[in-house]
Amino acid sequence: MMHPLDDLPTPSLLLDIDRLEANGERMRQRACQAGVRLRPHLKTLKSVDAARRVVDAGGAITVSTLTEAAHFAGHGFRDIVCAVCLPADKAARAAQVHRSIDGPGLATLVDSLPVAQAMADRLRTLDAVLPLWIEVDCGEHRTGVDPDGDELLALGRFLAGCPQTELRGVLTHGGQSYRCRDAEAVRAVAAQERDAVVHAAQRLRAAGIDCPGVSAGSTPTAVHGTDWTGVTELRPGVYMAGDLFQIQMRSLAREDLAVSVLASVISVKPGRAVIDAGGLALSKDRSLMGLPDDPGFGALSDLDGRPLGLQVAGVHQEHGEVPLPPGAPALQPGQRVRVWPVHVCMTAAAHGHYHVLRDGRPVGTWPRVNGWD
Ligand code: PLP
Repeated sequence: MMHPLDDLPTPSLLLDIDRLEANGERMRQRACQAGVRLRPHLKTLKSVDAARRVVDAGGAITVSTLTEAAHFAGHGFRDIVCAVCLPADKAARAAQVHRSIDGPGLATLVDSLPVAQAMADRLRTLDAVLPLWIEVDCGEHRTGVDPDGDELLALGRFLAGCPQTELRGVLTHGGQSYRCRDAEAVRAVAAQERDAVVHAAQRLRAAGIDCPGVSAGSTPTAVHGTDWTGVTELRPGVYMAGDLFQIQMRSLAREDLAVSVLASVISVKPGRAVIDAGGLALSKDRSLMGLPDDPGFGALSDLDGRPLGLQVAGVHQEHGEVPLPPGAPALQPGQRVRVWPVHVCMTAAAHGHYHVLRDGRPVGTWPRVNGWD
């Protein structure tokens, strides 16, 4: 008997709209209860159609590239933060996108005074203005200034006094939550995130610098954090789609996962099968390597999402190797399966669009805005 997914190409990216909407609603309620604004991060789904289902009308969004920023601005999103520290030579493009928006516009991040000064120099020659947030390092040690350091105040004074910039606030990302192994530890990171960014805002304000926004968040900390006093907004993103990593973090349950890769079995030999989803269609992200439930490069289910107890243990560019231990379900050449990604942001990035499902049936395609231009 035909299955509704039998007519789609493989490998292809599936997005379950019902689950996306449920994930969006749960996070919206969580933010509402915490008394903070939700500024969902679209870096995972990179889709205007998806954003329209999880972001309130005219609502605030986060993006990770200027390509996304321009795309979302062109589709009516008026309050955008590109949550990455940009090199000074991108200030002109960012200011151009900001100027194209009738509303709060586009803001980006900065964590160094020399970069802020170089941006201001470039903006001055264009007679342009760019809103900026100061990024604060709350313990991930990726980017961001020390909330207790001198550079925070030096940056704050410079941005507040510079006609080319507008200081929107302080922003942090508790990405170290991904190193936690239980909800209690994630809760501690959420508190670290809050304390660092609220402290930074208080130091700026005590120095007479206006600091309206206090922005924090990752999916694990937004889910497990309990007290966001002093924070004005949260920026989780991957919660909309979910993946095996988020199950491990207890941020989502298996039945919440909205994105999977549809694949075909292309070869079966004793003890192993091969599917047509390899490193490109799944990514080579092994974030769960070594953990007790290590799913390799992805976990297999049947077309209705029932786990098969199989995983992709090895990948080539277009081949995914699936070991078939004794007692494993038999796979047949030509059979279709779904692969549930380890890290959905990476998996989705190789695909140009989603095949979207309603009640488990394909109802169209939604484009993604990949890459950089
Ligand atoms: N904010 C920033 C600056 C990020 O880098 C990210 C993700 O990398 C997020 C928010 C969203 O966090 P998550 O991917 O856990 O939803």
